[in-house]
Amino acid sequence: MANQTLRFDSKLYRYLQSISVRETQILKELRQETANHLMARMQIAPEQGQLMSLLVELMGAKKTLEVGVFTGYSSLVVALALPDDGKVIACDVSEEYTAIARRYWEKAGVSHKIDLRLAPASETLNKLIAEGQSNTFDFAFIDADKSNYDNYYEQVLKLVRPGGLIAIDNVLWGGKVAEQAEQDNRTKKIRALNDKIHNDLRVNISLVPIADGLTLALKR
Ligand code: CA
Repeated sequence: MANQTLRFDSKLYRYLQSISVRETQILKELRQETANHLMARMQIAPEQGQLMSLLVELMGAKKTLEVGVFTGYSSLVVALALPDDGKVIACDVSEEYTAIARRYWEKAGVSHKIDLRLAPASETLNKLIAEGQSNTFDFAFIDADKSNYDNYYEQVLKLVRPGGLIAIDNVLWGGKVAEQAEQDNRTKKIRALNDKIHNDLRVNISLVPIADGLTLALKR
């Protein structure tokens, strides 16, 4: 029995996955294809995808944002959880990675729900703000270049409606955020954003220690 978050050894982690993950065939295929990729560690864990899917369904979300697509696992789980007229505006700069994503969106029959914007995410987000789409998104997932995390957070916070949810990935950054000796740029940026969000009264928060750490921030 413990009233602290457990440390997962690989046996307990495998158990967790074995009795909780319900991954459809297409998601499994995408995960396996991405696992062979050089940047495979950028893919979210299946239990994290399932949590996000549950949250989207729980909220009855319709209009969502994704900052950082990679090969499309997270946008696919979100799109599958959305109603048929739901939308994901998905931001990425990589033609190569998102070509894989597109193939699986197509295969899963959800490509009509996903609007891929191939441009720097900060430009796409600014454009949405300029178009008057602030306070209209139900859910957003931030999982892109860590050096811009604070900018993405501020832009997305404008775009999400009060009561909307922002999920921010990699906030525990392999444990490096807790090691003061780690002073590389990305670690410092994530640590600074974590500190800021902790005291940010614009949101209610929970840092969920799933995968590499997922902050959930509910806009007040
Ligand atoms: Ca990530």
